[in-house]
Amino acid sequence: TKRAKSTGRIEAYQNQAFAIAREQFGMETALRRAIERRQLRLAYQPIRSLATGALCSFEALVRWTDEEGVHRMPDSFIPVAEESGLIVPLGRWAIDEAARTLAEWDRLIPGNGSRIAVNLSAIQLQRDAIAPVLQGALDRSHLTGDRFTLELTESAIVSDPDRIAGTMHALQALGATLAMDDFGTGYSNLAYLQKLPIDVLKIDRSFVTGMIADRDKIAIVRAILSLAQALGMQTTAEGIETLELAQTLAVLGCTYGQGYFYARPLEAPAALEMLAEATASAI
Ligand code: C2E
Ligand code: MG
Ligand code: MG
Ligand code: MG
Repeated sequence: TKRAKSTGRIEAYQNQAFAIAREQFGMETALRRAIERRQLRLAYQPIRSLATGALCSFEALVRWTDEEGVHRMPDSFIPVAEESGLIVPLGRWAIDEAARTLAEWDRLIPGNGSRIAVNLSAIQLQRDAIAPVLQGALDRSHLTGDRFTLELTESAIVSDPDRIAGTMHALQALGATLAMDDFGTGYSNLAYLQKLPIDVLKIDRSFVTGMIADRDKIAIVRAILSLAQALGMQTTAEGIETLELAQTLAVLGCTYGQGYFYARPLEAPAALEMLAEATASAI
C-alpha cells in the first residue's frame, strides 16, 4: 500500500540519519582522544614572495593520522570539531604547536625571520578568546607576535562582527598579521574591509586554478588585486600549481604565492630543511 511504502521510506531515511549520526559521533570520540593524546600534527606549506621567490612564511595545516593509520584531512574533521566544540582545544593546540615549532626553528636557524600562519575557524573565534591564547603561546615560546599571521574567513565576520572586530584589534595589538582567507568566496558586503585591520587578502584557489585560460577568472583576480592595492593591503594567491601561474600573478602585482608549484604542505623536518636552505642562500 501507499502508506507502507512511505513508512518504509521514512525508516530508510531514519536509518541513514542514524548511520550518519553514529559515524559523526565515532569521529568525534576519536578526535577527542587524538587531541588528548597529542596525535594531531601540523604540516607546513611555504609562502613565497612572487617578485623574488624569497621564502617568507609557512602556513600551518592540521593533519591527523587515526588509530587505524588512516590519514584524515582537515575538510573531513574540522566540521566535526566545530559542531562538537572540539575546535576550541584543537585551535589552542594548533597555535601553541606552531609557536613551539617556530621557536625550535629559531634555535636551529638563528635569524631565519620566517613567519608562521595559523587558521582560525569562525566557530573557534566565537567560542574562544584568541588574543589571550596567542599571548600565552608567545610567552611559552619566547616569540614576538610579529612572527604570526592569523587567517580568518569571511564567515567569521558575518557571524559576529563586533566580537570579531575586538578580537582582530587585540591580535593586531600583539603585532600579528591578519589575513582574510579564501577571499571572494564568502560574504559579498565589502564594507568590513574598511573597518577591520586586515593586512592580507588571500585570493581563493578557485579563481587561480585555470585563470590563464579564463577571462572571467583573470578579471576577478585583477579586481581583487586592485582592491587590495587601493586599500593598502598585501595579497597572497592560493593554489599556484604551475610556473606560468606564478609568473602571471607576479606580473599582475600579487605579493605572495602558495601552492603545489612551490611545495605541498611539508612535514616539520622537511620544512625545517627548506628554511635552512633559504636562510643560507639569503646570507
Ligand atoms: P586553507 O586555509 O584555504 O588552506 C589551503 C588548502 O589548500 C590546504 O588544504 C592546502 O593543502 C591546499 N593547497 C595548497 N596549495 C594547493 C595547490 O596548489 N593545489 C591544491 N589543489 N590545493 C592546494 P588542507 O590542508 O586540506 O586544508 C583545508 C582547509 O582546512 C584549510 O583551507 C583550512 O580552512 C582548514 N584548516 C587546516 N588546518 C586548520 C587548523 O589548524 N584550524 C582550522 N580552523 N582550520 C584548518
Ligand atoms: Mg588558510
Ligand atoms: Mg585559503
Ligand atoms: Mg581556500
